[in-house]
Amino acid sequence: MTACLGYGALSADAELAPIRFERRALRADDVSIRIAYCGICHSDLHQVRNDWRNTAYPCIPGHEIVGHVAAVGRNVTQFKPGDVVAVGCLVDSCQVCESCADREEQHCLKGATFTYNAKDRQTGELTYGGYSDHVVVRDRFVLRVPPSLDLRHVAPLLCAGITTWSPLRRWGVGKGTHVAVVGLGGLGHMAVKLAAALGAEVTMITTSPAKAADARALGAQHVLLSTDAAAMKSAGSRFDFILDTIPSSHDVNPHLALLGRRGVLVLVGAIEPLAPVHGGQLIRNNRALAGSAIGGIAETQEMLDFCGEHGILPNCEMIAMRDVNEAYRRLLANDVKYRFVIDMSTLAAADSGSVGG
Ligand SMILES: [Zn+2]
Ligand SMILES: [Zn+2]
Repeated sequence: MTACLGYGALSADAELAPIRFERRALRADDVSIRIAYCGICHSDLHQVRNDWRNTAYPCIPGHEIVGHVAAVGRNVTQFKPGDVVAVGCLVDSCQVCESCADREEQHCLKGATFTYNAKDRQTGELTYGGYSDHVVVRDRFVLRVPPSLDLRHVAPLLCAGITTWSPLRRWGVGKGTHVAVVGLGGLGHMAVKLAAALGAEVTMITTSPAKAADARALGAQHVLLSTDAAAMKSAGSRFDFILDTIPSSHDVNPHLALLGRRGVLVLVGAIEPLAPVHGGQLIRNNRALAGSAIGGIAETQEMLDFCGEHGILPNCEMIAMRDVNEAYRRLLANDVKYRFVIDMSTLAAADSGSVGG
């Protein structure tokens, strides 16, 4: 075991604070990573506050991790100390089931092991995430960061990036595709960048006129105000693909109405009940309503490589570890453009009177 310093919550109503805990000793196929930066995902906030009623404490969140390899287990051949690497939402899976064989480890039939708030497959110990000085991960779940990318901005690709990339790829978005992105937050801003880089014609659908200029700067050719009934009507049924990134309950019917023949609307944000869907909205134009959850490891590497080739990075606001509670408050108020990233070199300075985990 190695001593680790992290930042997490001891209960649903506690602020995040320093926590000392232990990481496992390296197994033969493990990689130990010194964490440089970790993104703050909206789901970190839900998990810490037990919004999904499944949080185990202490909860040390973080699944947008980048850093450098510090040590490797004796059977690891693909990585060596010093390599620039990343870890996303997954740290292990069974490797043998149908989903794993199809390289969709996130849907492992025996249950994928998530980066935090999950149980290690061998010991049953709670997993702890990237708000910490290092992490130990099975080699197959470690990703390579293209050297062309500025490491300070890479972390959000590991969740927000792959969550939007995977459905864009599955539905073949590319040149000639009319894409709409609903909601301009952490996920939405990545969706605009990635869809535009894939060659699609991108429209941002937002309730906020103030976001129009930002959406265009990110790569959207058009902006459609969903609060403008006349504009929504005149948009007709012009979209092939709509990516809905709204993180809470909402009515998808007005967006379904914008889909053309065989159009698909994919949900990636709202993990909660939606307003009732009108069957007629789906039957007309043979529309589909679908969902998508992160992506497999190979697909995540594909996304990182694409971002490396095209110079795509999230827009980040760098914060110090001690400011994470304030960042959560701002996240709830939608006050970030578009992702907070924690500079882990500030972790030690935030460690005043840490508690045992
Ligand atoms: Zn996430
Ligand atoms: Zn599996």
